[in-house]
Amino acid sequence: MFGNLDGLCIDNKKYIMAECTNCGEEFSDKRKDLGYDICLSCGDNVAHEQAVEKSKRVGPLFNKGGLQYISDEEDLTSIGKKV
Ligand SMILES: [Zn+2]
Repeated sequence: MFGNLDGLCIDNKKYIMAECTNCGEEFSDKRKDLGYDICLSCGDNVAHEQAVEKSKRVGPLFNKGGLQYISDEEDLTSIGKKV
C-alpha cells in the first residue's frame, strides 16, 4: 500500500516538474500550464522589472485628465496629441 503510494508520488513529481528556461531550476508543471516558462523566483525578478518599467508608463490621456496607465509602448509617442 505505502510502497505503491511512494511510487505514485515519485512518478507525479517527475510528471509535474517543468524546467526554468532562465536558470534551469525545476518548477511546478501547473505553473507551466498557466503559460510561464520560468520558475517562481525568476518570475519575481521579471515581475519587479515589469513593475518598474510600467511605473514609467503613466500619463494624462486627455487635457487635464488624471494619470492613467498606458499599456502600449507606441502610445507614449502619440498619446494626448491631436492626430
Ligand atoms: Zn528560474
